[in-house]
Amino acid sequence: MTIQKFQQQIEDIYYTRDAARGVPLTFTWFVEEVGELAKEIRKQPQDMVRLREEFADVFAWLSTLASLLGVSLEDAAEIYADGCPKCKATPCDC
Ligand SMILES: [Zn+2]
Repeated sequence: MTIQKFQQQIEDIYYTRDAARGVPLTFTWFVEEVGELAKEIRKQPQDMVRLREEFADVFAWLSTLASLLGVSLEDAAEIYADGCPKCKATPCDC
């Protein structure tokens, strides 16, 4: 699945509800999901099934925020296509 297809999929599933909620509240949900990912990362031993789910949730909330703000994540990712955006090196040489 490409980033663009993922963003479209999340829009198809949630856009109407997320648009009604608005950016500020949706952002707080995103931050809450990041917190859940943090908890999962800190768990020992790590549960790879739960980690995968939390990464998916954070990516989905990030994606819906981008959609609400008219940002294409696929296009945004292009900023890193040629290496570090500042020094252009891979790996970064800054
Ligand atoms: Zn750099």
